[in-house]
Amino acid sequence: MKPQIVRIKSIKHITHDVLQIVTTKPPHLDFTPGQAVEISINNEGWKKEKRPFTFTCLPDCDYLEFTIKTYPSHKGVTNELLHLKKNDEFILHDIFGAIAYRGEGVFIAGGAGVTPFICIFRYLQSKNKTGDNKLIFANKTIGDIIIVDELKKLLGKNFINILSDEIVAGYAHGQITEGFLRAYINDTTKNVYICGPPPMIDAVEKQSSKLGIGKNAIIKEEM
Ligand SMILES: Cc1cc2nc3c(=O)[nH]c(=O)nc-3n(C[C@H](O)[C@H](O)[C@H](O)COP(=O)(O)OP(=O)(O)OC[C@H]3O[C@@H](n4cnc5c(N)ncnc54)[C@H](O)[C@@H]3O)c2cc1C
Repeated sequence: MKPQIVRIKSIKHITHDVLQIVTTKPPHLDFTPGQAVEISINNEGWKKEKRPFTFTCLPDCDYLEFTIKTYPSHKGVTNELLHLKKNDEFILHDIFGAIAYRGEGVFIAGGAGVTPFICIFRYLQSKNKTGDNKLIFANKTIGDIIIVDELKKLLGKNFINILSDEIVAGYAHGQITEGFLRAYINDTTKNVYICGPPPMIDAVEKQSSKLGIGKNAIIKEEM
């Protein structure tokens, strides 16, 4: 895609370290739910620093929305986002992404890895096709869970949380294990969507394989 400039319409924290950024949308920009775009900040010194972020709005919205976890210690682009305000600009570059909806299944996300699934679930809801899709969402603490109320409303009992660093009534505790996944995945599961840090993806892929999921049924993206 030819680089396109968009303007920030709003920028706010939705958890202690996650920003929701809404921008203008260039005419004719198209993407499929789950895809990302390389973004750079249109400020001196940052124009060439491209980083991928997933669209969390629906493709037919007249704005763009991004849901971005910030890492101040990296002193990189996400730290710089913390200094931006309304009317600052992004440059959008190429659109890409490995995750696309293929049919009902189990979605497994770690932290900001949920962003492609946010877009897919919002899309399915808009078509009344949420069906029996399940989301297993792994986070460190309850305060890290992104758009918890919306996901609860969207998925009901099919929204399953697991917290590694905090014990909270009603939430599973620890890391995702084969034993944990057995309650949600078996050899009749048609699709397993995984998105998160590379070590989480490797572990969950191995666990899914032991539960009878073939390689072709796994749709994954490292973040
Ligand atoms: C397809 C795709 C879609 C994505 N979508 C989203 C999304 O929607 N939302 C989201 O939040 N994230 C998303 N990500 C992840 C996101 O792209 C990264 O978090 C982002 O690029 C981090 O940029 P950064 O410049 O802040 O830090 P980095 O580029 O990670 O780091 C900048 C520099 O900091 C240093 N550094 C790296 N790691 C560390 C460390 N642990 N401690 C200290 N210094 C370090 C390195 O020198 C590095 O060059 C996506 C990733 C992919 C691949």
